[in-house]
Amino acid sequence: MTELLKGKNIVVMGVANERSIAWGVTKSLHNAGANLIFTNRQERSHKKLIKLLDDNQIEARQIVSCDVSDDASINTAFNEIKEEVGVIHGLVHAIAFANREDLKGEFSDTSRDGFLLAQNISAFSLVAVTKAAKELMTEGGSIVTQTYLGAERVIPNYNVMGVAKASLEASVRYLAEDVGKHGIRVNAISAGPIRTLAAKGVSGFNEKLGMVEEKAPLRRNVDQDQVGDATLFFLSDLSRGVTGEVLHVDSGYHIIG
Ligand code: NDP
Repeated sequence: MTELLKGKNIVVMGVANERSIAWGVTKSLHNAGANLIFTNRQERSHKKLIKLLDDNQIEARQIVSCDVSDDASINTAFNEIKEEVGVIHGLVHAIAFANREDLKGEFSDTSRDGFLLAQNISAFSLVAVTKAAKELMTEGGSIVTQTYLGAERVIPNYNVMGVAKASLEASVRYLAEDVGKHGIRVNAISAGPIRTLAAKGVSGFNEKLGMVEEKAPLRRNVDQDQVGDATLFFLSDLSRGVTGEVLHVDSGYHIIG
């Protein structure tokens, strides 16, 4: 896999710590020879990222701050990236957020603000960063986001985030149509449950892990590295005929009734 992304500039959004899906992605992309550019929101995540890169001897081409709830922050981040590298070939969107109180109990109890917050950070953010990234993808490109089965089916407690992921997956299809004519592809990975900081916010998360182990065809959970390699596939030319797709990396759990 060494040469798959050699010389390609890829932006990775969403490394919070070593458990982040975006960190699994980072390792796969690094092994494939990519030049990596990172965006962080919180200072705490920035510090963790610096240490992780250092510990793993991975060199970042650039690290910029980006809060996807703020258009000015997105513009500044992508302008800084343009100044540094000029052209980008890929973007990994691994960002979501909802209030903890909206990730338990009944979906109908979701507040208007909670609903809009989840949509804003978890779905609209892909629309906004695709628009910004497109300007830098002058040689074509590939955009990959991270979704979950809760978009397709009712998964207990996933509630407002399931609806946000449905919106994210529909956005993948509409964006794929928009940017396809510029040689840019947009796809999503639908990963099985993985214990991360964001996952901790969802009530009953351990039961989800148990269900996959018991019922999925492969009888085991997936990890960040498996999602990383599937994301690498979407970023590389191996998937050049694929866009607007949602690929399940979930040990096959989604096919079981
Ligand atoms: P993490 O908590 O590790 O990552 C979530 C990331 O979202 C953090 O880096 C966080 O940045 C970022 N983020 C939140 N709000 C903002 C914002 N306003 N602006 C910029 N960044 C923001 O969890 P995961 O790795 O699990 O999550 C990554 C993606 O994978 C999410 O879309 C999630 O829904 C999806 N996913 C997760 C699954 C799982 O079981 N873990 C399964 C399927 C999909 P910061 O820390 O700086 O705030």
